[in-house]
Amino acid sequence: MSQTKYIFVTGGVSSSLGKGIIAASLAKLLQAQKYSVTIQKFDPYLNVDPGTLNPYEHGECFVTDDGAETDLDLGHYERFLNVSTSQANNVTTGRVYQSVIEKERRGEFLGKTVQVIPHITNEIKHRMMLLGESGEYDIIITEIGGTVGDIESLPYIESVRQLVWELGEENAMVIHLTLIPFLSAAGELKTKPTQHSVKTLMESGVKANVLVCRTEHPISDDIRRKLALFCNVKQEAVIESIDAETIYDVPLLMQKEGLDKVVLDTLKLPIPPSADLAQWKGFLAKYKNPKQTIHIGLIGKYVELQDSYKSILEAIIHAGAVNETKVKVHSIHSEYLDENDVASKLKNLDGIIVAPGFGERGIQGKIEAIRYVRENKIPFLGICLGMQMAVIEHARNVVGLKEANSTEMVEDCPEPVISIMEEQKHIEDKGGTMRLGAWKCQIAKDSLAYNVYQSEAIEERHRHRYEFNDAYRATIEKHGFKATGINPETGLVEVVENPDHPWFIGVQYHPEYKSTVLDPHPLFVHFVQAALKNFNTK
Ligand code: GLN
Repeated sequence: MSQTKYIFVTGGVSSSLGKGIIAASLAKLLQAQKYSVTIQKFDPYLNVDPGTLNPYEHGECFVTDDGAETDLDLGHYERFLNVSTSQANNVTTGRVYQSVIEKERRGEFLGKTVQVIPHITNEIKHRMMLLGESGEYDIIITEIGGTVGDIESLPYIESVRQLVWELGEENAMVIHLTLIPFLSAAGELKTKPTQHSVKTLMESGVKANVLVCRTEHPISDDIRRKLALFCNVKQEAVIESIDAETIYDVPLLMQKEGLDKVVLDTLKLPIPPSADLAQWKGFLAKYKNPKQTIHIGLIGKYVELQDSYKSILEAIIHAGAVNETKVKVHSIHSEYLDENDVASKLKNLDGIIVAPGFGERGIQGKIEAIRYVRENKIPFLGICLGMQMAVIEHARNVVGLKEANSTEMVEDCPEPVISIMEEQKHIEDKGGTMRLGAWKCQIAKDSLAYNVYQSEAIEERHRHRYEFNDAYRATIEKHGFKATGINPETGLVEVVENPDHPWFIGVQYHPEYKSTVLDPHPLFVHFVQAALKNFNTK
């Protein structure tokens, strides 16, 4: 196919309507019809990337293979499409301004006054078209973060207007995701906010081709007609997006509403006779018909906000479905966990995950939890900081190094079993400077990790500055802990295990970033199996 087609997804009326899920669901449907699709997200904030943002601000920071710290929506794209995203798939206003200002400093604008229009919009347009230039994709879906009408979204909306004009309406279209609120006092769904937000788009010269309407109640034909008439779209282009039981239902709901058909029709692309969603439906059937329920504890310090651990929660869903098991996750705040209540809080759980994190707050609770699971033989998965805390717990309570710690917590600690990586020592800037992205790991044959991966060579994604201090490896290994995954180039310890325990593993990397619906991550799959075994022997 010669011409790459572009779909822009904007949001109206309210934030948090789930543009990422709608974009990912549409992409899934198009992919199931053999189109090659990718999704990119443009975020209108000034941070160069979300890597420096606190999870309370913006939820989890997702990491790609090539080491980009990105918006969590990229996680949804990968989980739905089963293909990797990259640096180019997430762009922020900060990044756009940074490159325009760098070009200005290099004198590339030849003495011109540098302005939002055309320089910022040109940079946005260039980045919007970048993935399309490879010729690899038939369709590129671009999600514009924020809500139409926001001051900071304006350059993006103007860029969309220009691109639709330049590419022609057959090659570029706009889907507007909007909210149809229900007024319970009147017992009615209201269309006025949507009319206003479509009008706001039109004031910027952008016409919505499709309306996806988030709603808690079904939208009647009357309302569809009204929306079509007042928002200037075809009636079949008014798509209902009703609250779903799970985000993984959304592609099928969108298929039922004909979103893929109206999109292909607008872009003048052939509509294949069927979409291959058999595997997707297979996953949903298992997910919705569990044979048993188990209880997992997720111990972290950002548990108040579900989005902070998005990829971990989704990886657990994927692993639960494969095992035909409902996995109920209990979020446990590490800051409020101590030796007096750890037993009462953890005793009914079938498995424990200790989450990634940064800084001192809540680490004692994590260490207490790990001591409890070690002593009580509860299946344990430690991720990144969770793995580091497992090493500290073992060093303190088994090896007897009472002062064992990470230099992240106590810089001059006398027993630094976790310490800053050599190449990190002289880095001062915080943004984009951690050890990021996919790195190789060599797995020891005789290990739980090998049993899980069935491979000696794996690659996993990272996001950290500190590491297992090799100076302590021999001592710690003498006391029952084993380093079973090592980076072949640097010797860095990536996996630790406790062979005296039925299922105890800590990983320096983030397996959750690579779990998808069609490829659940083996670590989570085996962790759920171990928890199931624990549950069945109670
Ligand atoms: N704070 C730890 C480090 O930087 C762990 C990071 C993480 O859990 N992602 O090494």
